[in-house]
Amino acid sequence: MLKVAVISDVHANLEALEAVLAEVRGLDLYCLGDLVDYGADPNEVVELVRERKVRAVLGNHDRAALQGDVSMFNAWAAISSKWTARTLSEDSSIFLRGLPLNLRLDLDGIRGFFVHGSPDDPLWEYVSPTTHHLLFGHYLAKVDSRLVGMGHTHVPYVWAEEAGTVFNPGSVGQPRDGDPRASFAILSVVRGMLEVEVRRAEYNREKAASKIRKAGLPEFFAERLSTGT
Ligand code: ZN
Repeated sequence: MLKVAVISDVHANLEALEAVLAEVRGLDLYCLGDLVDYGADPNEVVELVRERKVRAVLGNHDRAALQGDVSMFNAWAAISSKWTARTLSEDSSIFLRGLPLNLRLDLDGIRGFFVHGSPDDPLWEYVSPTTHHLLFGHYLAKVDSRLVGMGHTHVPYVWAEEAGTVFNPGSVGQPRDGDPRASFAILSVVRGMLEVEVRRAEYNREKAASKIRKAGLPEFFAERLSTGT
């Protein structure tokens, strides 16, 4: 049996990342983008991701912090992005700059494609099963895969049909589906059959929130960690 873990949207939340990594010890790890921004520990998160050899793609927040381009963000997100850009070390920036826009993988013969937004718009498209399910077949065909993983919305789901499987592991560092626990996915292949399971992990939200406040980042980003919205 093959088993891997997929995380996404860590958003500089070190406490949440540590909690998830403790649950997936020994598994190969993939990340669907947005390692940094919103949270107070961008460098520590990048360091841990490098140490654990997580294979990651670039997210819109990663790129915005690298390029200093906040034109797509609202006022709060712009403040956070500028703070992140100032705070990123040279080492972290070099690592983020080296991330690809997508990853192709082979899970025991099942072709997979991982991206932050969507196969049509790798950085910015918000894909939700309620509005986009009619496009899922198109995504799978477009990238010639049986499995497509996308992040960006911070809301987990698994869509499994004849054509293949499309999923979002949710967000490690800033869930927005009403459950404040860190979200991630475990993929297993048993006798050629793929199964995707979304899991949650408790972590010290108060600690992560207090670091956000201490860093002088907008209160909103500290608060939403406790509501998961
Ligand atoms: Zn994100």
